[in-house]
Amino acid sequence: MPELPEAETMARELAQKTLGHKIAEVQVSYPAIVASDLSSFSSLLTGRKVLQVRRLGKRIVFDLAGGHNLLIHLKMTGQFKFCDFWPGSNPESWPPHCHAAFKIKKNSPQKDETLFYQDTRKFGRLRAFGPGEMDEFLAGLNLGPDALSAGPEDYHRLLSASRGQLKAVLLNQSVLAGFGNIYADETLLAAKLSPLRPAMSLTLNEARTLQAEAQRILTQAIECRGSTVSSYTAPQGAGSFQNHHKAYGQAGQPCPFCGEKLLKTRVGGRTTVYCPFCQK
Ligand SMILES: [Zn+2]
Repeated sequence: MPELPEAETMARELAQKTLGHKIAEVQVSYPAIVASDLSSFSSLLTGRKVLQVRRLGKRIVFDLAGGHNLLIHLKMTGQFKFCDFWPGSNPESWPPHCHAAFKIKKNSPQKDETLFYQDTRKFGRLRAFGPGEMDEFLAGLNLGPDALSAGPEDYHRLLSASRGQLKAVLLNQSVLAGFGNIYADETLLAAKLSPLRPAMSLTLNEARTLQAEAQRILTQAIECRGSTVSSYTAPQGAGSFQNHHKAYGQAGQPCPFCGEKLLKTRVGGRTTVYCPFCQK
């Protein structure tokens, strides 16, 4: 959390509010949130116009004028919040759990806004890059193809070449980028594939079903503006896909296919909900 649909929703809603406007000022109240050089973080971003906001797997990228970039890894609880005041450098006047503030200088007649990076657990990381630097960094991350745009043959080739249980491999961002715990469980139940089986055993037909269900579920979740669970909300308020969860958080509830109780186990250290009868 946040996963592909939440990151896509954030990127779209951040773009609506920042595209074509300049970052006029940057404040950081929790220096460890910045994983690039802290002394140049503000200067790389300040005065730069936002040209594009996009999702990269589960990460957010701001493409800025002059080839500069802001890359945000949201980890468990990273999210964004807009306010219509500039809080200044005293973090006591900031909203709770906000660790970085960006003053968005709007083209008149629009009012300036402050974009806060908010992160309860503080595991997220922000990085600022000069021209060309981000590509080098991203190459080192070794991200797999995007889970939403990869085709059925990609799913088959990548998953069947990976050691480990199917669910754990789906969560591995260097195989496919975008899945987290919610959408891995939802997709595996919908595709009737066991999270526990070896990824290597996946046939081409099974991979086709898995990819089709992933595309259907991720697309529907984006239309719902993601899942609002625990403290997460999108920049423009709560999403609604949590109302459509059939696996995540549903242990003990009836399987939507056979009516037997869904079981809870752990795969790759993560809580996993599945139907032992339907998921082969
Ligand atoms: Zn079932």
